Amino acid sequence: MTDDLAARLAYYKARGERELAAAHDVVTRHSGENILALVGAVEAVLELHAPLDRGAGPQCAGCATHVTFTRWPCKTVEAIRTALEGSTDDQ
Ligand SMILES: [Zn+2]
Repeated sequence: MTDDLAARLAYYKARGERELAAAHDVVTRHSGENILALVGAVEAVLELHAPLDRGAGPQCAGCATHVTFTRWPCKTVEAIRTALEGSTDDQ
């Protein structure tokens, strides 16, 4: 995971934890739980698409096979990065 993605996910995780801690109603509690679940899902995908170097440069551990080389960051990691760009402006 790149530093910028890690920082964005840490921001969302902290936000979800703050919402849960301050929850006074079921809607706010579900909002915090949903944020944490979504962060966990993105982290799981990024763990599958982690960089791997077998001596030919970084490739995606999730996309590359024993016969293909998929440069890292792959399309999946770039799609997540693009989707989260600028999403933490309200920090
Ligand atoms: Zn990949």
